[in-house]
Amino acid sequence: MNKNYIGGEWVAGADVNLNINPSDTNDVVGEYARADAAQAHAAVDAAFDAQPAWAGFTAEQRSDALDRIGTEVLARREELGRLLAREEGKTLAEGIGEVVRAGRVFKFFAGEALRLSGERLASIRPGVEVDVRREPEGVIGIITPWNFPIAIPAWKIAPALAFGNTVVFKPADLVPGSAWALAEIIVRAGALPAGVFNLVMGPGSKVGDVFAKSRKVRAITFTGSTGTGRQVGLACMERGAKVQLEMGGKNPLIILDDADLEQAVEVAVSGSYFSTGQRCTASSRLIVQDGIHDRFVEAVVQRLAALKVDNALAEGCDIGPVVSQAQLKQDCDYIDIARHEGGNLVFGGELLERATDGFYLSPALITETGNDMRINREEVFGPVASVIRVRDYDEALALANDTEFGLSSGICTTSLKHACDFKQRSAAGMVMVNVATAGVDYHAPFGGRKGSSYGSREQGSYAREFYTGVKTAYTLA
Ligand code: NAD
Repeated sequence: MNKNYIGGEWVAGADVNLNINPSDTNDVVGEYARADAAQAHAAVDAAFDAQPAWAGFTAEQRSDALDRIGTEVLARREELGRLLAREEGKTLAEGIGEVVRAGRVFKFFAGEALRLSGERLASIRPGVEVDVRREPEGVIGIITPWNFPIAIPAWKIAPALAFGNTVVFKPADLVPGSAWALAEIIVRAGALPAGVFNLVMGPGSKVGDVFAKSRKVRAITFTGSTGTGRQVGLACMERGAKVQLEMGGKNPLIILDDADLEQAVEVAVSGSYFSTGQRCTASSRLIVQDGIHDRFVEAVVQRLAALKVDNALAEGCDIGPVVSQAQLKQDCDYIDIARHEGGNLVFGGELLERATDGFYLSPALITETGNDMRINREEVFGPVASVIRVRDYDEALALANDTEFGLSSGICTTSLKHACDFKQRSAAGMVMVNVATAGVDYHAPFGGRKGSSYGSREQGSYAREFYTGVKTAYTLA
């Protein structure tokens, strides 16, 4: 059994979690420990005790540790990518791509550890010096979802450690394999002192709840659903802890009449359906101008018909299975809801049988939908996209912004005027012109607005905002 790592020891859990392959439900990827609340508290205590010493390591020592971790992750990209595809259902190419991203994130923050800087200000008082410095927050609680089982943990753990914080990390219950493998690399390749990094696999309601409520955890970074995020946020607010929430999306992609049709189809298909549509940045609302609408829908249907849905590890697979039975039911329920609301299912939405028993669903495209329908208001989180027909750019922009979410948005157009206007007036945290709404660089700030995100940005140099606290010092020499 793969154990938890608490206070420098590998420890068995209170319970065992079977990691099941969604491409083949007879394949058990592994057995993983499930901690209880007492073990979560022990991890928090260990991280709390270890933090002052870790903050005392030089920036170069912390940088070197992250660099060694990144090197091993990158060297093992094939093996870890295969594990990821097996447990989450992404294709092998997508799994390897995610592992590479995780490795590069560690390399990036190895550099950031050395670049942490402050400021010196002129005082309004004679002889006084003012300096503004950044210090570690303390213990960081990290809670992650199942859809990016190695990249999201990496982009939270790396900056936390880089800037002198210690970590208690709880991955999603559905996909503990990649998280466990990453944790094993972190403690061994990183050669971290006991307590600096702790892995606590287990249910969110127990382990996550301890992190959110413990006074020793100074900051919580959470990625997951909006409902859970708000619950975690309220618990943090109540005790005055810093919190960063990355949550759901209902991301619009506008296709204008002047778009390059072939490019627009690629942007829509890749953004809506790749990684089985299980991306917070997936373009689930396709807002299409009247003049291109029918040609666009027809071309997307043709493209979808040519995609191979199969076992994530099968040769030539374009789209793997849905992650779980519960998620599959949610996807199918939303397709039914859309049809009952008047939507026209023009492609997919069928359960498929393959050589192995898995959660296979053909990518679904629903046309003739309105922005007020549930399919366009609520996150489905599967290979399902709906089309909204519009008259012109102004209507498209208004509908794109008419959502409680605001993570990512996109437009396909050859008009410089509309592209520039959209970048300015889109109410999302990330705006894409002629590129998919999903798929971002690891060194650029990541995050949304409105119901999608709360707190400061993740990734790139912006990450320091969350993982450090500002101290202003006044000195009269
Ligand atoms: P989820 O909210 O069910 O779970 C997320 C994490 O929270 C898991 O580790 C879970 O165990 C934990 N958790 C559950 N209950 C908890 C509690 N009471 N206290 C503390 N922690 C608790 O989400 P999920 O199903 O794993 O992930 C899918 C969701 O994640 C989607 O809504 C998707 O949009 C979102 N997501 C957002 C981003 C982003 O950056 N905005 C990225 C990826 C995924």
